[in-house]
Amino acid sequence: MFTQHKAEHIYIHIPFCIRKCRYCDFHSIPHDCALEERYVRAVLNETALRKNQIGRVTTIFFGGGTPSILAPVLLTEIMHVLKQSCEIDADAEITVEANPATMHAEKSETLKTAGFNRISIGVQSVHARELATLGRMHDWNDVMETCALVRSAGFSNLSLDLMYGLPGQSVESWLHSLEHVIALNPDHISAYELTPERETPLFGQLSSGAVALPSEEAVAEMYTLADELLANNRYEHYEISNYAQPARRCRHNMAYWQRKSYIGLGAAAHSFDGHYRSANTDDIIQYMERIEQGGVPVIETIELTSLQALQETVFLGLRTADGIARSAFEPVIWQEIEKALQDDTLQGLAEITPDRLRLTSRGWLVSNQVIASILSGIEKLPHGR
Ligand code: SF4
Repeated sequence: MFTQHKAEHIYIHIPFCIRKCRYCDFHSIPHDCALEERYVRAVLNETALRKNQIGRVTTIFFGGGTPSILAPVLLTEIMHVLKQSCEIDADAEITVEANPATMHAEKSETLKTAGFNRISIGVQSVHARELATLGRMHDWNDVMETCALVRSAGFSNLSLDLMYGLPGQSVESWLHSLEHVIALNPDHISAYELTPERETPLFGQLSSGAVALPSEEAVAEMYTLADELLANNRYEHYEISNYAQPARRCRHNMAYWQRKSYIGLGAAAHSFDGHYRSANTDDIIQYMERIEQGGVPVIETIELTSLQALQETVFLGLRTADGIARSAFEPVIWQEIEKALQDDTLQGLAEITPDRLRLTSRGWLVSNQVIASILSGIEKLPHGR
């Protein structure tokens, strides 16, 4: 027995960027003014087509790609159509991702007027050399200017993204980036470890030895440094890669980790209704053509088995500081988890209370291994569909 839920969370994928960063394997193409209008029409048509899958909306997230590269009039139009066609909570969190190289005063004000109330800016590093290795288009001055612009436009909820484990990065240069970002007093900071993806130019450079990653020990030290420094500055470490000032957790991302229903609109967007996961085509031209011909852009739908749902609950829930409630598990599964946690290798990495299971900060550093150990016992139990 399962329940399909109407989505309370909307993700909109904007697949355009100024140019491709050297480490990027997200679905994005160089910005094309002729294509952006046609793409937005397709997203608006998809919204109308799938309106009945949307419930009362509590978060909206424009991600990419670089949503801030779109003409402000188009971002405003999408927001207008969403407000017309969906019931949106008065205090809904409405985020737009922005690249500092694409922002200016008028755009910041237009976004605020359109209804966005949270802005997430990709900083990655404050060092020109590290930014050049990543192929980013901005520098630290652009970041400072953009933060000042969006604050003066009235954005009271600002998030900044950083990356560590970069080629040529040292623990000292990471500390420098953290200190500069903290000095801007953002409400939220994401700190992602670089994962070099095959098929990216950066992967090629690493393979050829042209650049090198820091050692595993240095990367672990960077993680611990962020954990301690941000805690000392009143940022709660509420998810493996995310830190927030009080009441500033990203509500949209929390919904993903808590397996709430969401709908993804646009090329390469994914949706989840509590039981089925589905994906839109990631081919931008095919996406637009399908919609223009009156079709749907969904190319894959997977019905989760009860074991897959359980694996997701563990994998996603243990990313968060809240962990997972005991009530999410059958008693026999909770017993299996308690048994797994008695293993010597897991001491200090996970904690179990009478009603919750969570990983420690040290456990997050090796979360894949800890989660695999917890899941291995569970997976041996009999599971229904
Ligand atoms: S701005 Fe983001 S999505 Fe665009 S190319 Fe760079 S990393 Fe990829």
